[in-house]
Amino acid sequence: MTPTRTTKLERGRGALGPALELVHTGRAPTRAVLTAELGVTRATAGAVAAELEALGLITVDSRPAVAAGSQGRPSHRLSVDPGGPVVLAAQVHADGFRAALVGLGGRIVATVPGAVTVEADPAQVLTEVVGAGAGLLRETGRRCLGAGLAVPSAVAEPEGTALNPLHLAWPPGAPVREIFTRCLAEAGVTGPSGEAPATGFAANDVNLIALAEHRHGAGRGARDLLCVATGHRGVGGALVLDGRLHTGSSGLALEVGHLTVDPDGRPCHCGGRGCLDVETDPLAFLEAAGREPGPETGLLKRALELLRTEYATDPAVRDAAHLLIDRLGLGLAGLVNILDPDRIILGGLHRALLEADAERLRSVIAERSLWGRSGKVPVLACELDYSGLVGAAELAWQPVLDDPMTAARG
Ligand SMILES: [Zn+2]
Repeated sequence: MTPTRTTKLERGRGALGPALELVHTGRAPTRAVLTAELGVTRATAGAVAAELEALGLITVDSRPAVAAGSQGRPSHRLSVDPGGPVVLAAQVHADGFRAALVGLGGRIVATVPGAVTVEADPAQVLTEVVGAGAGLLRETGRRCLGAGLAVPSAVAEPEGTALNPLHLAWPPGAPVREIFTRCLAEAGVTGPSGEAPATGFAANDVNLIALAEHRHGAGRGARDLLCVATGHRGVGGALVLDGRLHTGSSGLALEVGHLTVDPDGRPCHCGGRGCLDVETDPLAFLEAAGREPGPETGLLKRALELLRTEYATDPAVRDAAHLLIDRLGLGLAGLVNILDPDRIILGGLHRALLEADAERLRSVIAERSLWGRSGKVPVLACELDYSGLVGAAELAWQPVLDDPMTAARG
């Protein structure tokens, strides 16, 4: 039966979001691939691509080309529109903030750091970071579709409150999403209509690293992606299932930092002892290597530097790295046994430990895993620069990916 014109259009409309996501994540570089991925006719894929182009979101190369090395027929290349709209992304960390404008495809269009003391009142640093982002919007003249914020704390849902901002002076339970949204309104940052204030989203920074890496980095193509990473202090974890963050019933899933990896180890702020959080972070590494840790805000940088420059020459540094690798492996084996991911990605100090001795880490995971199977799970290093910011941008892009018509003006 020949579809009527109406059903064709409806089918095309329903495919707009999936099509945009395919181009956004680099999985549909040509119209031919888009057609195959969507499982629609060439005519429908052409109409969908043309509509996304009319919305200013993607570009369709007008001259079809044969991909290098391909025997196939020429196809129109699809790319995100480099001059298209952006979202405002913001990240707050112990030693300040960073603001950025991020386009589709996880492309950072402009970014600016801010070194400030993060005061006890979240509104203070959020006003500054939003002000910096609004400045970038004015300088570049780019159209803004939304805003996302990454914070070093679990964020409770649906309230949008930062429950445990342990390494910031914020009070536990600060309503960060509400404050962020208010700051956007005060700075005149508008959403798609160009009139109403932009909607603000907020989430935990490691969750956002995982989301960014899944869409644009080392996690691409994984179905059940486990991400474990450190900042200056502590360890965070996240799980992306079928392309979406698994946040649990109230936003608090994957608090992997409190797995016990040494029952006689250091006391942890959770009340336990020997948690992954306190046994495998940069402070633990510097102490195990017998180094003076120095101020908290430089811990990750100093730990990475020490590992890079003295792992090969100083036995104390090598022993410290091996101790941390063994403990990290123990924690990862426990997580693999519970979650059965098809890929693990590591960030911060854990990424550097993987790069120092990947074989050792993999064999610890294998030894401790069920039927030795976990040793087969690929463990990779995070790839992206500013992945927390790119992930914050993904939060803001999500409504557009769900319904690209959101990006229509007015
Ligand atoms: Zn703990």
